[in-house]
Amino acid sequence: MKLILLGPPGAGKGTQAARLVERHGIVQLSTGDMLRAAVKAGTEIGRKAKAVMESGGLVSDDIVIGVVSDRIDQPDCARGFILDGFPRTVPQAEALTDLLKNKGMKLDAVIELKVDENALVKRMETRVHEMVAAGQTPRADDNPESFRKRLEEYREKTAPLSRYYAGTGELRQVDGMASIDDVTAAIEKVLVQV
Ligand code: AMP
Repeated sequence: MKLILLGPPGAGKGTQAARLVERHGIVQLSTGDMLRAAVKAGTEIGRKAKAVMESGGLVSDDIVIGVVSDRIDQPDCARGFILDGFPRTVPQAEALTDLLKNKGMKLDAVIELKVDENALVKRMETRVHEMVAAGQTPRADDNPESFRKRLEEYREKTAPLSRYYAGTGELRQVDGMASIDDVTAAIEKVLVQV
């Protein structure tokens, strides 16, 4: 099974992706996680991505597309994967379409978590509090200024992907404001239909 989870920052993509991994034995490919790992490891990609990530901007399409293409070739992706945080721009979506075609793969569904933007800042604050309470370091971009920028980037560059995937017939929308369990149930309902 090959899926894309679409939705603004704080929509719950990571939480739902983790549940899909457990239920379906597929891997979660989070470009945000991959880039954060590259920053931590101090690789060339990490050095290029660090400042733009901290400000809440988007890393260049070329870098992210390269990272995803290499990752999909790993053997653990053979059973399927969930793309979380990718694609984020129409050029990334077009590159993904070509890339999957060249690898002889096809998406099963693009699941968009529909959320009320007013709730997202609150969710980010809750995530920060929970991480601090658990003794973890919050993400460098989980602060009001960067978060606002991430939302702007989403509206401007990522939201158009709904239309792109509606056009390919792959888009499925789920109410992301429901409880975590209800969102999971709604996603599972979509998956039995694809
Ligand atoms: P995320 O963990 O998905 O919220 O991503 C954190 C940050 O990583 C984003 O704000 C971007 O700076 C960068 N990033 C992650 N995925 C992408 C992508 N597909 N394209 C460009 N930048 C990305």
